[in-house]
Amino acid sequence: MLAVAIELLIDTGRRPSEILNLPWDCLGHDHDDNYVLVYDDLKNNRPRRRLPITETTAKLISAQQHATRERFPDGNPTELVLLPASDQNGRRAMARHQIGRTHRDWLEALPTPIRRSDGSSYDLTTITPYSYRHTYAQRHADAGVALDVLAELMGHELLSSTQAYYQVGEKRRRAAVDRLANHRFDRYGNHIWRDAQALLDDEHARHALGQVSVPYGTCREPSNVQAGGGACPFRFRCVGCDHFHTDPSHLPEVKAYLHDLLRDRERVLAATDLENWAKTEALPSEVEIRRVKDLVHRVEEHLEQLTPVEQADIATAISAVRRTRQVTGLGMPSINRQPDLGKPLERP
Ligand code: SF4
Repeated sequence: MLAVAIELLIDTGRRPSEILNLPWDCLGHDHDDNYVLVYDDLKNNRPRRRLPITETTAKLISAQQHATRERFPDGNPTELVLLPASDQNGRRAMARHQIGRTHRDWLEALPTPIRRSDGSSYDLTTITPYSYRHTYAQRHADAGVALDVLAELMGHELLSSTQAYYQVGEKRRRAAVDRLANHRFDRYGNHIWRDAQALLDDEHARHALGQVSVPYGTCREPSNVQAGGGACPFRFRCVGCDHFHTDPSHLPEVKAYLHDLLRDRERVLAATDLENWAKTEALPSEVEIRRVKDLVHRVEEHLEQLTPVEQADIATAISAVRRTRQVTGLGMPSINRQPDLGKPLERP
């Protein structure tokens, strides 16, 4: 049972107290019938949170449910916990110190040292059950999961809290930004070859601050850059602005913005409770929709023309850059969207 607890910590990145307090009936499904873990975020007092999990993790939970049921066949399933202490008819979770102690014994009994990529050994005393929350964040960040999605998975309200859970080497990030510098586009979707060094310096400077100016590209308008991205003088009409540039790392946001525009257009056109003048004002501009469509098309076309090796190279660069990106969305003409959590990652 302790091994199950540790595997769940590794797989789900939840806090140890959240794993230990899982109810017996913690396995659920989302609307697409994929597995979710239903848990209580005790630290922030948010009950019944739902975390996407892999089938492997679901099987682990299912086997533990079975084992717990066998141990306490007379217990009411609605009162049982998944990982019960041996007393109290399965209603009390095992103590946190138990898992901490067993975890330490296990680490100390490992036949070989745990090594970093540079060959140095980890100090085992620094590895605790809570460490797996960091491992979870690092694993997702390494796989290129966007920061807002990872924050949602971690249950953080502040992106900066999530960023504290993983590391991106400065060398790696600079190399990724360098690679993307040759794949930049202006607002018309024209590939920018000239001035790459200036753009690069600009991007490095922005990343040093940990943010870009606009959600689906970068802004070079001096007053807006100085204000950290929240003071656009043109009401964030970026695809109509010469200060706007983008690259393939922003493609998911450009597509999501296009989706918002199209959806808003449908909604406004279908509205029966709006006067005509209000409809006209609320309707997204056809020119903007066309511009964003062109931009998506040209960036995708550009990526398709790359060789498989270049495509793989760009994919790596995109994932490294997206890990450090923190967007300022102040005043942006977009709808607040729940991040798409996508498919859960298998543990290596
Ligand atoms: S419209 Fe966009 S690119 Fe232009 S100044 Fe405003 S934020 Fe910058």
